[in-house]
Amino acid sequence: MSIAAQPTVTLDHRFARDLPEMAVPWAAEEAPDPRLLVLDEPLAAELGLDPEWLRSPAGVGLLTGTAVPDGAAPVAQAYAGHQFGGFVPRLGDGRALLLGELTAADGRPRDLHLKGSGRTPFARGGDGLAAVGPMLREYVVSRAMHALGIPTTRSLAVVATGRTVRRETPLPGAVLARVAASHLRVGSFQYARATGDADLLRRLADHAIARHHPVAAGAGRPYLALFDAVVTAQAALVARWMLVGFVHGVMNTDNMTISGETIDYGPCAFLEAYDPATVYSSIDHAGRYAYGNQPAVAEWNLARLAEALLPLLHADEEEAVAHAVAALGRFRPQYDAAWSAGMRAKLGLADGAEVPALTGELLESLRAHHVDHTSFFRALGAAARGASEPVRRLFADPAALDDWVARWRALGPDADAMDRVNPVYLPRNHLVEEALGAATDGDLGPLERLLDAVTAPIDERPGLERYAAAAPPDFGAYRTFCGT
Ligand code: AMP
Ligand code: MG
Repeated sequence: MSIAAQPTVTLDHRFARDLPEMAVPWAAEEAPDPRLLVLDEPLAAELGLDPEWLRSPAGVGLLTGTAVPDGAAPVAQAYAGHQFGGFVPRLGDGRALLLGELTAADGRPRDLHLKGSGRTPFARGGDGLAAVGPMLREYVVSRAMHALGIPTTRSLAVVATGRTVRRETPLPGAVLARVAASHLRVGSFQYARATGDADLLRRLADHAIARHHPVAAGAGRPYLALFDAVVTAQAALVARWMLVGFVHGVMNTDNMTISGETIDYGPCAFLEAYDPATVYSSIDHAGRYAYGNQPAVAEWNLARLAEALLPLLHADEEEAVAHAVAALGRFRPQYDAAWSAGMRAKLGLADGAEVPALTGELLESLRAHHVDHTSFFRALGAAARGASEPVRRLFADPAALDDWVARWRALGPDADAMDRVNPVYLPRNHLVEEALGAATDGDLGPLERLLDAVTAPIDERPGLERYAAAAPPDFGAYRTFCGT
């Protein structure tokens, strides 16, 4: 066997250099018997990393943080956050490490980060570890989101560590290697603000501007421009979630990025039957993070970011608040515009077509009749071509939507355009469960087949029918578990 040559992997440490107060130098725990389970080869190529080398023992050493390149200085990042509405001033990477920043092929920095790499000073009562199932969930869902064109942190690899993790039952442990535009969160700003150190807050904001929103640096009010940019990015992101039926599950402020990427796939899932009240997280008893609440929660989280930024917005607090309120007021119109444009595209209608009344009636009908969200929009493409049976079959009363379909067809929907935006294959809950269960028992086959389907979600392919179908009726109410 030829051993791939060791490439030069250069990791920068801009976060730790700019913000040492928020970076605790730390090392990953040894992995007793590491085994690479999955590797996103196209992502490796984007990062200038040789996939063959990443599969070698040295590469797996990088992917678990146990053999880092010379000069690497991994850190656990400090952050705060509102968890289910309650403020926790010190959360931080309890089981994660920032290995450093890679320069991707596009010349821009990307965080290389590990999850499940052992306890850190932020671990509190946690064991610092992660199990194979949840790390593979993040891998498959983030790959699907990326394939759908939705901004997201990426998953480079999952390595089984050979360590047993104790949850309700003993489970195989794993480390996820995650790649992100950065790991700056709303909670990062809340942390800096809560320290009372005005200089730290300013350095964090300058770091975020340089990294994500450089045009803000040239604005008359750079920190207000930063806030505006985050509002815009999050309005666009959450609109994309809503249009595809994605339920994040734990939209705590520590799980909302400054970059506008989706982060932290815990108890997340895609809608089956359309219903705004859908909740998948077993710990979200009040339904705070239900599908239909996500835009309002995003706005609430952005208000917390505004509060953290206040001292930078204006020396006079009243003026600062006025700026923040005005900027936050731009969230709803931007969200509404992004959602309406996306919904017009899903319905195959031209730019400028007025859709609110039409979509309001449609969504209420989907909810009342428990219609599968993903199947519906794809079947509607067939209806645009004159084949209404696929849509009619989704309703217990096939005539329930006939009148609506007739009015919509009179607007001249473009079926081909619909098929380019309405996915066929999503990581449906029952398929994810099946794949994670098999992988936990050592069989990666179902996971590989699911990945094949969801990494090319748009083009219908023969033989993949079961990946397009709704869950069997006996699958029951789906719940996922976070913090594992
Ligand atoms: P999450 O809900 O995954 O976003 O995590 C919330 C907080 O809990 C973060 O500070 C995590 O680092 C921490 N955390 C979650 N699971 C563990 C664990 N197994 N060990 C240590 N810290 C953890
Ligand atoms: Mg988190």
